[in-house]
Amino acid sequence: MPRDPVAKLLLFGATGDLARRMLLPSLYNLHSDGLLPPALTITGAARQDFDDAGYRDFARAALDEFLPADRKDPATIAAFAERLFYQPTDLSKPECFRPLADKIGDIGGGLAIYLSTAPSLFEPAIDGLSSVGLTGPTVRVGLEKPLGYDLASSREINDAVARAFPEERIFRIDHYLGKETVQNILALRFGNSFFEPVWNAQGIDNVQITIAETVGLEERAGYYESAGALRDMVQNHILQLLALIAMEPPAHFDGADVRDEKSKVFRSLRLMKPEKVPHNTVTGQYADGAVGGKFVKSYAEELGKPSTTETFVAIKAHVDNWRWQGVPFYLRTGKRMAARRSEIAIQFKAVPHSMFAGRGGLLQPNMLIIRLQPEEYIQLLVMAKEPGLDRDGVRLREVPLNLSLDAEFAGSRRRIAYERLLLDLIEGDPTLFVRRDEVEAQWTWIDAIRAGWTANDQKPKSYPSGSWGPSAAIALTERDGVTWQDD
Ligand code: NAP
Repeated sequence: MPRDPVAKLLLFGATGDLARRMLLPSLYNLHSDGLLPPALTITGAARQDFDDAGYRDFARAALDEFLPADRKDPATIAAFAERLFYQPTDLSKPECFRPLADKIGDIGGGLAIYLSTAPSLFEPAIDGLSSVGLTGPTVRVGLEKPLGYDLASSREINDAVARAFPEERIFRIDHYLGKETVQNILALRFGNSFFEPVWNAQGIDNVQITIAETVGLEERAGYYESAGALRDMVQNHILQLLALIAMEPPAHFDGADVRDEKSKVFRSLRLMKPEKVPHNTVTGQYADGAVGGKFVKSYAEELGKPSTTETFVAIKAHVDNWRWQGVPFYLRTGKRMAARRSEIAIQFKAVPHSMFAGRGGLLQPNMLIIRLQPEEYIQLLVMAKEPGLDRDGVRLREVPLNLSLDAEFAGSRRRIAYERLLLDLIEGDPTLFVRRDEVEAQWTWIDAIRAGWTANDQKPKSYPSGSWGPSAAIALTERDGVTWQDD
């Protein structure tokens, strides 16, 4: 991919939680490793009234709070702060954009804009940027999630952005795609020859994708209450993981080929008819309980009112194409779960005939586990014979072939997902960003599920905090003879 680095970065939402916790530390890390273009300037914008010096202090405080101790180098922080500028800007006020454009100055060397604000501000931001000429051919724009709350609202945002930017200059962020282990799925699948022959309905029995959080509502009540688990996690992160597992091999590791293949997967997802939705989905909401040995309150108590928002969802999905016909993809995400874990478990088919059965040997089908967090590893569960003379029968046991990425690559720093994505935005590599057709196909599938919930008046079932969700979620897989991978 030829690099086309910009000379300037404009960061909207520069005083927000994401900027403090992720974006500023990521930019600092890139700076500290010499990866940013040497002359790159970073201009923050938000309503808060800072001058440049005030924002540099703000950024230093954020770095102090969120960088690990071994990354804090006073001289490097001082040099990084020199890159920072700030312009007070209210995106809802058109008159704020002229001073902003004056502050940014010449954009001939390229400008990357990162919109880390509520999506309701995207449209006024794009209109304001257009009005002062900050959308020309040297400008690209990165958009944070959520990109709408259904297909119609997502189209509205996409249309608004498309009025000013062609698709190749729009970078939609799904930070899961910036994670090292997620990119490792590509290396595992397409850098090794032995998986591909069994990576299909003949070789694989089912796929499970879990993103489990132990946290509750935290500070995000307003957003989460109107979003729920399906929109917050499944529409974007879980479906992106599903696409990387299910897609055909792209010809090249580039933005066109990878995204073409992912898009085909989204278009192959079986749309659920309303009457099928209760059978294929389970929703839940956490009640009080214990997480990590501590008592925690129910969702409704945290929120301060009763609610029908789902904090858990489990789905049985199908990819209707040649490769995956008949293979269920079980998807699950929730808050206040028993453990924090993002994981993909691929259950292979059992051997067609066990020669050990007559001698008492029991076989488990092989399983490939890709753990994304909190640890990063890939584990293949294979059958082995326990040592012994087998007078009482053959004893077979499942043992893991382990690839610990943490240990294997111990010398290299585990980067924040945003480091990769910010650098790709600055350099203009769209491969790990989500294209419009992907987002819209994702929403089409999600909207059908939501329509089914409405048609069937499906309300979330209560589950105790610190569990793996409502018992109906266990039944969702058990009736197919499949057990969630919860070890
Ligand atoms: P936040 O803490 O509420 O920050 C919002 C930012 O937008 C602040 O800098 C705020 O600054 C600015 N802002 C608000 N109204 C504005 C206006 N009218 N004009 C200009 N700036 C305005 O939100 P956040 O958590 O940083 O999230 C930012 C975006 O990233 C959201 O879309 C969120 O959904 C997404 N996101 C966040 C996370 C996360 O972990 N935080 C993760 C994934 C995605 P002022 O109040 O000073 O204007």
